[in-house]
Amino acid sequence: MMTRAIDTQLIHAGEERRIEGAIRMPIFQTAMFEHDDSPLRYVRYNNTPNQIVLNRKLAVLEGAEEALVTGSGMAAISGALLTALKPGDHLLAQDTLYGGTHGFVRTLLADLGVSVSFFDADAPETWNSLLQANTRAVYVESITNPLLHVCDLEGIVAFAQANKLVSLIDNTFATPFNYPAAAAGFDFSLHSATKYLNGHSDVVAGVITGKGDWVRKAGKNLKQLGGSLDPHACFLLHRGVQTLALRMRQHNATAHALAEFLDSKDEIAWVYHPGLRSHPQHERASRLFEGFSGMLSIELKGGLDATEKLMSRLQIPVYAPSLGGIESLMTRPAISSHAGLTPEEREAAGIRDFLLRISVGIEDCQDLIDDFEQALN
Ligand code: PLP
Repeated sequence: MMTRAIDTQLIHAGEERRIEGAIRMPIFQTAMFEHDDSPLRYVRYNNTPNQIVLNRKLAVLEGAEEALVTGSGMAAISGALLTALKPGDHLLAQDTLYGGTHGFVRTLLADLGVSVSFFDADAPETWNSLLQANTRAVYVESITNPLLHVCDLEGIVAFAQANKLVSLIDNTFATPFNYPAAAAGFDFSLHSATKYLNGHSDVVAGVITGKGDWVRKAGKNLKQLGGSLDPHACFLLHRGVQTLALRMRQHNATAHALAEFLDSKDEIAWVYHPGLRSHPQHERASRLFEGFSGMLSIELKGGLDATEKLMSRLQIPVYAPSLGGIESLMTRPAISSHAGLTPEEREAAGIRDFLLRISVGIEDCQDLIDDFEQALN
């Protein structure tokens, strides 16, 4: 069959059958369906029409065998980890994880008897020595939150295969547009669809994609765990995801331009963005990714005072947690996404109190640059 570009897949994949000729997928606002010859259909079982179409589309985008939408990114992450691991197992987890994932691994998973070693996913020479007889899985992020590291993703896939580990990646920051992680060989590629996949900051959702056996196993577990996505939220995510390519091109380009502008300013000590030549993994990111995402983080030479002043003077970015929407947002990870870590854990992860994370929206690029210029002045 002819392979189609992602722009076409976003619009048409999974939508071979029009319902009553409707051009848009109608919302089946019903929790359950009448018994017929097919298996019992129920929203928590993830097998209703709005879910099925999205599941098919998202699998195609990731180059995955299967996909499942979930009620949040954390439902996808916790559901996948609970599927890959059982009591007594050991997990290798990247040392800079989204705060919610870090919390889950450190508390709930630990209480269930799963041990974890946090590791440097960019130092392959250290990995073998971390393996234990009970090591079952390895977990990384495609671009880390909030320091935007791009670890040795190819090395992780090969290491997992060589040691029969389940490989899991949180691909929220890169998105399947920039990096189809399931196609790159990860067993599980997970998303907070709340961010770029939906892209409009009006839905909380998640996605589990990956190898068929693993996703089906996760689907079975999710029937018990819950955390399903309701039909109306499916409709919104469906509508949002169809413009992913258009939005990501704009996010990628604007964030890159803004990062270069900020990098040229004397007031700024460091800009974290994989598109910059100064980024330690720039070469890898350029080779593996279509673009570098709309995310960047900065540290001002003036520390917290200067950062707070800058934030109060900026007129376009909204001061709010989360990311990946059409509007620019800014937040200090120390008091939002990573507030659950202890100060020592944050320091070890390199997340300073005054680090400012910016989710660059799709506003006019020059307007954003001008806004930062006036705020810095
Ligand atoms: N993964 C990453 C990288 C995130 O930034 C977040 C939320 O900020 C999540 C997962 C969790 O997603 P959700 O809030 O949809 O549960």
